[in-house]
Amino acid sequence: MEKGTCNQGTQRKLVLSNERIAGLLKELLDCSEAQGISACFMCRTCSSSCPIATLEKGFDPVKLIRMCLYGLWDQLLRDPTLWLCTSCYACQERCPQGIKIADFITVLKNLAVKKGEPPPGIKAQREIITQAGRVYPLDEFDNKKRAKMGLPELPTTCTVVGRLIGAE
Ligand code: SF4
Ligand code: SF4
Repeated sequence: MEKGTCNQGTQRKLVLSNERIAGLLKELLDCSEAQGISACFMCRTCSSSCPIATLEKGFDPVKLIRMCLYGLWDQLLRDPTLWLCTSCYACQERCPQGIKIADFITVLKNLAVKKGEPPPGIKAQREIITQAGRVYPLDEFDNKKRAKMGLPELPTTCTVVGRLIGAE
């Protein structure tokens, strides 16, 4: 097991499981969205402001921040509750410490896709958007309905998104 240290505010020593996790740590702590998360003093304003936390017991924005500060990287990036965040920004606007919680969660999602395994539903959506350019792809049936209404035909495939994310 490889060990590393993190001087993020509290001089907390983190035990890192492997090089991949160490790389994630550096990437995450280097991003501007993660700056200041060590200032979290657990007031739970974010939790009580979050509409998802009121509906889903397993989701709590402060839990994600604490997991990050405790170095629970593997669990954090594989946590399926990460994907419940709707990016509504209620937490971020109300945090008394000015922590960019919603932006930080978006960074976590991006890292989870980049380095880990996103949930199957997210993976499937990504593939559909890559191929069709839309979450709900159009087909010939849609174009027939459009033609009946006098609307122009729309493309049923899209290569632009795939090129943008380097999938093609
Ligand atoms: S509102 Fe800010 S300071 Fe309070 S618990 Fe949430 S992240 Fe921490
Ligand atoms: S941005 Fe995400 S974590 Fe923050 S309040 Fe909205 S749903 Fe909750």
